[in-house]
Amino acid sequence: MPLTPEQDAEIADLRATPRPTLRAVSEGAEKHLYVPKPVLDHGFVRMIDYMGDDAAICQAARVSYGRGTKSVQNDEGLIRYLMRHWHSTPFEMCELKLHVKLPVFVARQWIRHRTANVNEYSARYSILDREFYIPRAEDLAAQSSQNNQGRGEVLGAEESARVLDWLREDAHRAYDHYEQMISDDGQQGLARELARMNLPANIYTQWYWKVDLHNLFHFLRLRADPHAQYEIRVYADAICEMVEDWVPAAYRAFEEYRLGSVTLSASGVECLRRMLAGEEVTQETSGMSAREWREFTEVLKHTER
Ligand SMILES: Cc1cc2nc3c(=O)[nH]c(=O)nc-3n(C[C@H](O)[C@H](O)[C@H](O)COP(=O)(O)OP(=O)(O)OC[C@H]3O[C@@H](n4cnc5c(N)ncnc54)[C@H](O)[C@@H]3O)c2cc1C
Repeated sequence: MPLTPEQDAEIADLRATPRPTLRAVSEGAEKHLYVPKPVLDHGFVRMIDYMGDDAAICQAARVSYGRGTKSVQNDEGLIRYLMRHWHSTPFEMCELKLHVKLPVFVARQWIRHRTANVNEYSARYSILDREFYIPRAEDLAAQSSQNNQGRGEVLGAEESARVLDWLREDAHRAYDHYEQMISDDGQQGLARELARMNLPANIYTQWYWKVDLHNLFHFLRLRADPHAQYEIRVYADAICEMVEDWVPAAYRAFEEYRLGSVTLSASGVECLRRMLAGEEVTQETSGMSAREWREFTEVLKHTER
């Protein structure tokens, strides 16, 4: 993810010129501001701006004339109550603006989260860089036999070497043609908006992405989850680290009531009650389908994230 010396200088310049403000300041967020956090081989996520802090959530919840905070303990209790009871609007008072560099196929999953504001790098206007996501050999895995939407065993050395060669060769060949198509050397040169169509989905794009904390937690709940594809999960994990520093009490509540929690169906709750009463419940007596029963028993076994 090396930035150019000019880009590094711009970031250093921003960090070297602090200004006093009357607005809420989160010390934890300040340390992240502008600094890129590397993700995958050429990607990053960096915090461009934030609005609000833990206290701002309480301020909104109490519709306060002042800061709205009481003791830290009292505030944390309120934040946990709000999260526990799905009282979401106070969390919407906090906002986060990120600059993300990510492969196009990851961007396609990310953009499905409609509750954010996005501005993407224009490949009609600018020439894309010759940068492609090439997975590490240990991240190349076979199709999962249990989950149609996932990966299973890591590929053997010979097969993964072959795959990596193809990924690199195909990407560079496509980029060579892209360059040749847009060149105006001895030809008219195809418009960038058309030439880009032969570029592979592992090429990197960039965007600014702004979202409120409630919808950010929803994104993180889905994308920092083991069921999410590894290549988007690593971005979600990097954002989790920032959010933990920005709004620590809200993040702790999120971990407790969302990330580490499970949802049980009405039948699941009933089965659990019967099990706690000492009854041996099986799939046949549970009233659940085989798949529901498997998911239910996995929840009971599932202790680590
Ligand atoms: C593991 C995984 C696998 C997936 N597989 C697929 C797949 O195979 N195919 C596929 O197409 N997608 C897939 N998705 C994407 C998924 O279906 C959602 O589109 C995506 O996660 C965004 O979720 P969202 O709509 O809740 O988020 P957001 O768009 O951020 O919306 C947040 C919430 O706002 C509300 N909302 C937003 N917009 C509207 C609206 N227009 N109308 C009503 N309510 C709205 C909803 O309550 C929504 O939950 C997958 C996602 C995950 C995490």
